[in-house]
Amino acid sequence: MSLPSTALPTRARVVVVGGGVIGTSVAYHLALMGCTDVVLLERDRLTSGTTWHAAGLMVTFGSTSETSTELRKYTRDLYSRLEAETGQSTGFKPVGFIEVAADKGRLEEYRRVSAFNRMLGIDVHEISPGEVKELFPLARTDDLLAGFYVKEDGRANPVDVTMALAKGARMRGVRVIEGVAVTDFLRAGGAVTGVRTAQGDIEAEFVVNCAGMWARQLGEKAGVSIPLQAAEHYYLITEPVSGVDSTWPVLEDPGAYGYFREEGGGLMLGLFEAVCAPWKVEGIPDDFSFGQLPPDWERMTPYLAAAMERIPISKEVGIKTFFCGPESFTPDLAPVFGESPELRNYFVAAGLNSIGILTGGGIGRAMAHWILNGRPDIDVTGMHIDRLHEYQTNPEYRATRTVESLGMVYQCHYPNRSMQTARGAKRSPFHALLAAEGAYFRDVSGWEGADWYAGRGVTPDPGDLTWGKPSWFAQWEAEHRACREGVIAMDMSFMSKFLVQGRDAGRALERISANRVNGEPGVITYTQWLNEGGTLEADLTVTKLDDDRFWVVASDTAHRHALTWMRRHFADAHAFVTDVTSGYAQLNIQGPRSRELLAALTTQDVSDAAFPFRAAREIDLGFARVLCIRITYLGELGYELYIPAEQAVGVYERVIAAGEAVGLRLAGLKALASLRMEKGYRDYGHDIDNTDTVLEAGLGFAVALDKDFIGRDAVLAQKAKGPLTKRLLQVQVLDPEPLMFHAEVVRRNGTPVGYIRAASYGHTLGGAVGLAMISSDDGPLDAAWIEAGEWTVEIADGIHPAKASLRPLYDPTNARIKL
Ligand SMILES: Cc1cc2nc3c(=O)[nH]c(=O)nc-3n(C[C@H](O)[C@H](O)[C@H](O)COP(=O)(O)OP(=O)(O)OC[C@H]3O[C@@H](n4cnc5c(N)ncnc54)[C@H](O)[C@@H]3O)c2cc1C
Repeated sequence: MSLPSTALPTRARVVVVGGGVIGTSVAYHLALMGCTDVVLLERDRLTSGTTWHAAGLMVTFGSTSETSTELRKYTRDLYSRLEAETGQSTGFKPVGFIEVAADKGRLEEYRRVSAFNRMLGIDVHEISPGEVKELFPLARTDDLLAGFYVKEDGRANPVDVTMALAKGARMRGVRVIEGVAVTDFLRAGGAVTGVRTAQGDIEAEFVVNCAGMWARQLGEKAGVSIPLQAAEHYYLITEPVSGVDSTWPVLEDPGAYGYFREEGGGLMLGLFEAVCAPWKVEGIPDDFSFGQLPPDWERMTPYLAAAMERIPISKEVGIKTFFCGPESFTPDLAPVFGESPELRNYFVAAGLNSIGILTGGGIGRAMAHWILNGRPDIDVTGMHIDRLHEYQTNPEYRATRTVESLGMVYQCHYPNRSMQTARGAKRSPFHALLAAEGAYFRDVSGWEGADWYAGRGVTPDPGDLTWGKPSWFAQWEAEHRACREGVIAMDMSFMSKFLVQGRDAGRALERISANRVNGEPGVITYTQWLNEGGTLEADLTVTKLDDDRFWVVASDTAHRHALTWMRRHFADAHAFVTDVTSGYAQLNIQGPRSRELLAALTTQDVSDAAFPFRAAREIDLGFARVLCIRITYLGELGYELYIPAEQAVGVYERVIAAGEAVGLRLAGLKALASLRMEKGYRDYGHDIDNTDTVLEAGLGFAVALDKDFIGRDAVLAQKAKGPLTKRLLQVQVLDPEPLMFHAEVVRRNGTPVGYIRAASYGHTLGGAVGLAMISSDDGPLDAAWIEAGEWTVEIADGIHPAKASLRPLYDPTNARIKL
């Protein structure tokens, strides 16, 4: 029931915008955590956006993200207990859920995922086609290889879920107000301070934009970029079918683009087409409520035909409902979640990519934690709003990328797959030159990143996607070995680069850096930035160029996070950050012969004595002035060249020409991955994240406890607690054949103790190698504990002996980098 407009309060601690499953879940969890001074504003009625027509599938199986799996598990548990708490049913029915695999690629994917999911507490079983048939007798199973069955999963009623969350929130004191649209935001001093509505303003400490497919255009009013786009999303419901039983599990067959479940005695057949149709790129109408879209069944026919083959009787029965409704999709199929980089205290939870019901409970809980505790309690690196960029809100970008996003849900998630649409958004100055050398490019945060090289004039052919060794394995290996044995050049222009200037620049950076960064000028320092809780916010380098000039370099994915972290912490200091990413190309020359190459390029003395490890110098190189830093991410003697963009091509030509005499080879990002992984170098967002402490991440060597910095107390407190029981280890599979990618379960003496967060192939070590966060429940996790264990890794096809190490398996003494 709508409250009269006069009931609109003038103040609340938190205003939640949007009354779909996400907004109500955020409001419920805020209240559950004790924050009841919350107002939820819904433009029309609860569920009137996308939530009302969702199919309500509830599946915990299928993700190799620990975060996504936790969100799913928590959500399922919440929906099964919410009725007892609120008296309002969520309609959750644990009828079971089966994912089927009809081809080898998907079978391998599901076997890999199921091991990982089981470790996280999901009771998934591989079942035979015959067992699939027993559970879903109308399914055609003769062409299936297997099913993956979770008995406790099932379906929920999205409207009931939302009403139960809203009721639970109200019961705790939240004011849920329907019929009030937020029209604008109040802002002051870089923070949001409230919302504007036609019925008046509400001041607030925090605002959470949960406006679903409207979130982007609403975000614009606050200057916040929210790159999501609505797309058509389809299902149909058949007339009753004899024998269909409401206790049957949900059946999903991604290979046939469809899912199936009972509905009203008939079947619901839902679709995820490979190429989809964005809807209303120009903007979602303000008055679109409980709306349906005109379906384009002609476009959908091939997908529908494929799906119907799985349940042959669906071809014969009448169709009661053809449904097409809009759902929001994001450029990388992860939600838009968290505090916006543009505006403090302005949070966003939107862009749920068709899994908003089955993750909604967890999303609400994580958001409440973040708002009330100042930081999230789960790894958010993959879904943080600040991983995304402003240009991704461009209409053409959204229209182009969204075509691919929806279909990605059902793609087999092979390694080395890159998004194919909206390519070429960012190109380094070297791009055309690298293309001429046969570079195979992949999407690296929108940049065209050279992954490997086919050779001059050769068109790179990536071959078929595979879980095995790719067709270009030999090129990759050659690039890797060239770096270990000779010298390579690598385009790293996608790295985020910042110039920090001002008389307080050193002090300000020192305050946020765990390592000492404000020592002598001309020195680069590897450091982490921590929050007050001692967990990681960033992993990067700070180079002191001069007393009032610093050069900060972070990875592409950390771009906006690092920038925002500096700006917010430098608030009152005389320290100013300029994002110079676009202004400088980065070319790294690395390998034992890199000094020889550099010596041929510049008049500067580059001897070890004159240019030691960690030195940063401005050098002359051809007609250019180049910032040259002796540092490596690959584990060899090497230099990073930062070149003004307009001089980059000239420098490249010089490097290539001089490189002929020393056997220079171009190397791509595949080589970067394998080289750094052999050396155990970390990559934030891949193998370390915001839930890890700097000590657990094995980065204690980069912490200067004898100075003040944010997070120091937490580091000291963890040290005082005694030896660690959770640490990042390097893990290598002893058999050179099996490959690891991510999420493989690591066992010690047969017991799962962690999983591979990121992996590559160690061409020098001779096997797959990765980094895994390992927990010990029987004492300190130290070298003796590692030594005493028998280590194995579970990969789809079996259990493989492995070794684990705290020290880098490649060059543990750093002899190679100090040549
Ligand atoms: C056909 C279909 C099937 C689906 N099936 C499933 C499924 O089986 N399982 C699953 O997990 N997910 C499914 N989904 C996805 C799921 O429905 C969505 O992810 C989820 O509903 C998104 O919830 P939301 O709260 O973000 O958005 P919404 O439900 O759209 O809520 C946003 C709300 O914000 C309100 N609003 C907008 N602007 C303003 C404003 N200015 N002021 C105040 N209020 C505003 C809107 O009125 C709306 O109620 C499906 C989606 C579709 C289209």
